[in-house]
Amino acid sequence: MSASTRPDARRNAAPYLYGRENEAVAQVLEGGHYGHTEVTEEFERRIAGFLGVPDAVAVASGTAALHTALLAAGVGPGCEVIVPSMTFCATVQAVLAVGADPRFVDVYPTTLCVSDQLVMDAVTDRTAAVLPVLFGGRPVDLSVIQEELDQRGVVVIEDAAHAFGSRHGLRRVGANGALTCFSFGPIKNLTCGQGGMVIPRTPEEADTIRRLRLLGVVQPPGGRANTTSYRVEGFGLRYQLSAINAAIGLVQLDGFQAAEDTRRRSWQTYRDALAPLDGVALIDVDVEHAVPHLCQVRVPHRDTVFATLRGRNIGVGVHYPPNHTQPAFTAWQRHLPATERVGEEILSLPFHQHLTEADIDFVTTSLEQALKSVGGSFGHRRPRLG
Ligand SMILES: *Cc1c(COP(=O)(O)O)cnc(C)c1O
Repeated sequence: MSASTRPDARRNAAPYLYGRENEAVAQVLEGGHYGHTEVTEEFERRIAGFLGVPDAVAVASGTAALHTALLAAGVGPGCEVIVPSMTFCATVQAVLAVGADPRFVDVYPTTLCVSDQLVMDAVTDRTAAVLPVLFGGRPVDLSVIQEELDQRGVVVIEDAAHAFGSRHGLRRVGANGALTCFSFGPIKNLTCGQGGMVIPRTPEEADTIRRLRLLGVVQPPGGRANTTSYRVEGFGLRYQLSAINAAIGLVQLDGFQAAEDTRRRSWQTYRDALAPLDGVALIDVDVEHAVPHLCQVRVPHRDTVFATLRGRNIGVGVHYPPNHTQPAFTAWQRHLPATERVGEEILSLPFHQHLTEADIDFVTTSLEQALKSVGGSFGHRRPRLG
């Protein structure tokens, strides 16, 4: 099989359009109002309805969602925020944006997620919040320590950028009482082009985030701010979700059932093909609950395997190089053994809604060949499970 016949396998991730996005955007452009409009508000109501929550606050990005959520939770200078090092750098930058100190924690190498124990071990008197990352779409259950966190005044803010549509038990992520942040960036499960959403815990928190996202301006209900009489009631940023982006999101939400089905099916195809392969540790997903966002394996000689697959035009990636060793975050560096090991072994295979079974077969067959050519086994570095 020639690599050039598999263009979709070249892409590690890709947006998937359902077809009516163009029309929806054209309608907004012709309407002449591109900022925060009733289209944005309709998107908020539709997302809230989908998740089964009373309210949802649209913002410009997942990073803006995390930033405004941290501000609304009162996290600021002097506070410590527990954050896994194994995440996209945006999670950490949001903590720095409020002037707090990230306290990096390790993750379980089988899920790339934090556990209640890993979190509790990191709590100090300065801890104001914990940002569990729902890595690859996996729900993170901190209910065992919720009461203790409440008593200590530690707010849980879920970074659910990967996890739109996933469930905690029967409830959708966002509907289990935590302050939750979604990203609707270009390659997320649902895209607005760029966008994000905060699921607030209370109406007051929703008001605060609505003020923060609009330069501190309080809008009259239902209306665009009247430029002759608006009131600036506090600190704020230009973080609202444009109607252009919201219009894309509304079409994406209509198509979301297909996203769930396709992602689950592709993930299972990968799992079946990877299970018999020696030297591959799949980062497992409970597809009953999670809408998978990534397909990741741990392999020996990762950099060589990566280069071999790239050489065959396969869009492999690394999610993510650990943050605690990044130059910008060295002030908060610490030793995190599982993250450091995983950081050297992790490999993301192409995963998006354009992939066919033949694409996945091409990827997994190529991976098998690449592993054989590097010796194919972890040897003394066999991945530990757990
Ligand atoms: C994408 C992402 C973000 C940030 O979302 P943007 O919409 O890109 O700002 C935050 N955390 C994680 C884990 C992400 O993958």
